[in-house]
Amino acid sequence: MEQNDEFQEIRSGVRALCADFPDEYFRTIDAQRGYPERFVDALIQAGWLSAMIPEEYGGSGLGLTAASVIMEEINRCGGNSGAVHGQMYNMGTVLRNGSRAQKERYLPRIAAGELRIQAMAVTEPTTGTDTTRLKTTAVRKEDRYVVNGQKVWISRVQHSDLMILLARTTALAEVRKKSEGMSIFIVDVKEALRRGMTVRPIPNMVNHETNELFFDNLEVPAENLIGEEGQGFRYILDGLNAERTLIAAECIGDGYWFIERATRYANERVVFDRPIGKNQGVQFPIAEVYIEVEAANLMRYEAARLFDNQLPCGAEANMAKYLAAKASWEAANMCLQTHGGFGFACEYDIERKFRETRLYQVAPISTNLIFSYIAEHVLGLPRSF
Ligand SMILES: Cc1cc2nc3c(=O)[nH]c(=O)nc-3n(C[C@H](O)[C@H](O)[C@H](O)COP(=O)(O)OP(=O)(O)OC[C@H]3O[C@@H](n4cnc5c(N)ncnc54)[C@H](O)[C@@H]3O)c2cc1C
Repeated sequence: MEQNDEFQEIRSGVRALCADFPDEYFRTIDAQRGYPERFVDALIQAGWLSAMIPEEYGGSGLGLTAASVIMEEINRCGGNSGAVHGQMYNMGTVLRNGSRAQKERYLPRIAAGELRIQAMAVTEPTTGTDTTRLKTTAVRKEDRYVVNGQKVWISRVQHSDLMILLARTTALAEVRKKSEGMSIFIVDVKEALRRGMTVRPIPNMVNHETNELFFDNLEVPAENLIGEEGQGFRYILDGLNAERTLIAAECIGDGYWFIERATRYANERVVFDRPIGKNQGVQFPIAEVYIEVEAANLMRYEAARLFDNQLPCGAEANMAKYLAAKASWEAANMCLQTHGGFGFACEYDIERKFRETRLYQVAPISTNLIFSYIAEHVLGLPRSF
């Protein structure tokens, strides 16, 4: 299971940092429903979260493959990249679509750890996956946009300085294509909290800081519009392949974590005078998920390779996310079963990781929507919506 790829330096660097944050650290944070502030700080200070920021803006200029290894290692060490992964892909939106002035203003400060861009606000309560029908509006008034509406499930807002916001700037009825007429903005979170944005936390199954947001005449300076007005949905879509590939890597990390824990326990736990792992009924499910995680891993590397070579990777990113989220969930189930009753005890951390990895079959994109993408965009089946 030891990876012999060209990323050994990254792997050992992240592992060394994670060694200072053992299971008890994440377990305690989970029990307190807290945020792993010290861990996130350490990652930022060590530069891991600015891996994909180009060197000219103070980052390391690494590709998605390397960035995905960082996320994988965090989860493989028992942590949860969900507390930080937003920074990796949200800065990509500024990098790809922002003006020179926006990049110069934000990226060096993000790379230096002075600013966090952890939040992206897309989902809305009444429209869900049907994003183009979102109801939040941004109306241009001289040198600013006035935002009204509501978002749901917006993660890490309370631990971020900046947020990417998707809102309608032209009514759905007035656009040629439903994907047009939406725009993205950089929102200064602290400023917004004083000027019309309200944050309501959503207690949830995972210890994941996520929120409902309400906008009541929030004024956003026009200079915070990213790219061209009306093209925001396209910009968001451009970033999703990176997000899906990074999350696939996190699931791979989870998968290996579950397999390592199960293998260790199956070797050590003696029942009926023999290690439980001597029974094929116990060892086969471990072998089965290992095969599945390894196979998902190949697709994750393929998606990342295509992305890093600026080649189309929509199908591969979606398939990697699907395979990895499924494999990590099966690994979680297997690990819990292998541990019997002890799997339910918080001190084994399995129930925590079990909850955490389950999320990825729903967010950031649900499994059915991946099937829909493959059916319609790859196989040419009729559009269902
Ligand atoms: C913990 C957490 C954190 C999140 N963080 C963020 C965030 O930071 N920013 C953000 O913008 N969003 C975030 N989300 C939202 C997430 O992206 C959505 O929950 C997800 O995309 C699914 O959308 P929905 O919940 O509205 O489900 P719905 O769209 O209401 O769908 C419900 C179910 O129906 C299925 N379904 C819907 N339509 C179809 C169809 N046509 N065919 C087949 N099946 C269909 C879906 O697959 C799903 O299983 C987060 C969600 C969670 C739970």
